Amino acid sequence: MTASPESPLRGGCGCGAVRFEVRAPFLAAWYCHCHRCQHRTGTSCSAGARIARADFEILGGADLIRAWQPPDGNPKSYCVECGNHLFAGSPDPDFVSIRLGAIDGDPGIRPEFRQWVSSAATWEPIPDDGLRRYERSAPW
Ligand SMILES: [Zn+2]
Ligand SMILES: [Zn+2]
Repeated sequence: MTASPESPLRGGCGCGAVRFEVRAPFLAAWYCHCHRCQHRTGTSCSAGARIARADFEILGGADLIRAWQPPDGNPKSYCVECGNHLFAGSPDPDFVSIRLGAIDGDPGIRPEFRQWVSSAATWEPIPDDGLRRYERSAPW
């Protein structure tokens, strides 16, 4: 589905305390194979999608959102009740990267590239899916 102000996409964490809304189509989506995403998700890669901050709003549970700010990266926001990851900042502070797994239903976009394949997990081959691959961060 394509999000709009009249027909927003909604999402949130697993315990339901944090809810948010996306009011425009996502601008890009990707898989990230970096070590941080492996730690954060407990799996081989993460899936995210970028939206302009102006098209994103927290509807509830804002007081339960915490963020880990790595010294050399963007803050990673999660629900302090259930630990589920929600979104991250991005190199451009005008944008936010939503975790695709936090979206209810179809986000209306599919991952278009894989980044940080240089640190891909040894225990799971990268699928031969034809997506562009970047050794490190994708060029924004
Ligand atoms: Zn939660
Ligand atoms: Zn990553």
